[in-house]
Amino acid sequence: MDYRQIPAIFLADAPGLDFLNSVATPVDEEVDWISDGEGLLAWLEQAELVPRATLAAMRSQSTPAELDAVAAQARALREWFRGFVQKRKGRPLSARDLRELEPLNQLFERDEQYAEIVADATGGTSILELRANRRWKSPESLLMPIVEALAKLVCDEDFTHVKACEGPRCTLMFADHTRGHARRWCSMAICGNRAKVAAHRKRLKERER
Ligand SMILES: [Zn+2]
Repeated sequence: MDYRQIPAIFLADAPGLDFLNSVATPVDEEVDWISDGEGLLAWLEQAELVPRATLAAMRSQSTPAELDAVAAQARALREWFRGFVQKRKGRPLSARDLRELEPLNQLFERDEQYAEIVADATGGTSILELRANRRWKSPESLLMPIVEALAKLVCDEDFTHVKACEGPRCTLMFADHTRGHARRWCSMAICGNRAKVAAHRKRLKERER
């Protein structure tokens, strides 16, 4: 199914997991929102990971083939990271897991971040604030905010509460930040209701017997 027909899914409560959810089966057919370069740009915009002006500049300065190549890199990164998360969700990470995260550190070496003091535009109490900027030198630099989101997931998130939706055919993952850690579904609208309907049907069937 064409990703342009349906907005990307952001329900994971953690940007790194939202990235894993950039391929999903919301109805019957699989949708991959980053299946090409245009898709990657659109997904990054929806995820608010890259400023819109940067995406526009990237689009005008790069060839479609260059952007498609970065999207392919992003998909490879996504599936490698999915393996990491699937193997470790439900328990805290340990220092031993660091070795497997080496690809993220290798990508970070190419990042060109710099800090800048700017006026606080939010109207808060501080007049000045420190902002992190990035030089977007090549289409590949579009991977950097994704790498950052994945790194934040492993550094800040308690993997004990990283879960896969219990929907039988659902592949969506999320960080369960509910108070009792009782979240079971990607969303009530997608899998929660499906489960309720299935349970209801089962009860009806049992009554018929
Ligand atoms: Zn689900």
